[in-house]
Amino acid sequence: MLNIVLFGPPGAGKGTQSAKLIDQYHLVHLSTGDIFRANIKGGTELGVLAKSFIDKGQLVPDEVTIGMLSSEVNKSPEARGFIFDGFPRTSAQAEALDTLLKEKGTSISMMLALEVEEEELRKRLLIRGKDSGRADDQDPVVIQKRIDVYNGETMPVKAYYEAQGKYHGIQGIGEIEDIFKALCAEIDKG
Ligand code: AMP
Repeated sequence: MLNIVLFGPPGAGKGTQSAKLIDQYHLVHLSTGDIFRANIKGGTELGVLAKSFIDKGQLVPDEVTIGMLSSEVNKSPEARGFIFDGFPRTSAQAEALDTLLKEKGTSISMMLALEVEEEELRKRLLIRGKDSGRADDQDPVVIQKRIDVYNGETMPVKAYYEAQGKYHGIQGIGEIEDIFKALCAEIDKG
């Protein structure tokens, strides 16, 4: 199986590149942010809970996120592989993902990290907020909180995969197509 963690701060382009990568490699796309938003839209209990954290730019608690992700992985037993987009975001999530995949006789193949500096992220998120209507992309205070959470809680996940020799940084500024080619080149190297 080809199991990719697509990593990067909010606004780095993970969603855009995931859509292209799943087409190219026929993988199942699991975006925890998208799943939370679908639950919010559907008015589920999980959605109500998740919204209370998302609106403040905080992470949804690990036990909730890990439980949800596990059940999503279990829904695709025939998958050729997965793109994990926006997960793991904490060390506990990274460990849980390793355990889950090990139980299935597989593992993370690589982490591809889109590297974009903060000033550019702030700009991109505000533009996306206007287009997508996402409340968490419209408030500069919430945007800054998400960037701070990324730098504090999520950064250790990079070290986690570096220690396993699986980390690959990719320049996330430029043409979408060029960034996509750079991601594919890393994947094709194996
Ligand atoms: P995203 O669409 O990836 O930017 O995620 C939007 C929001 O959903 C985040 O700011 C978090 O509040 C929440 N979220 C998404 N993925 C996770 C995760 N792996 N762990 C905790 N919270 C998450």
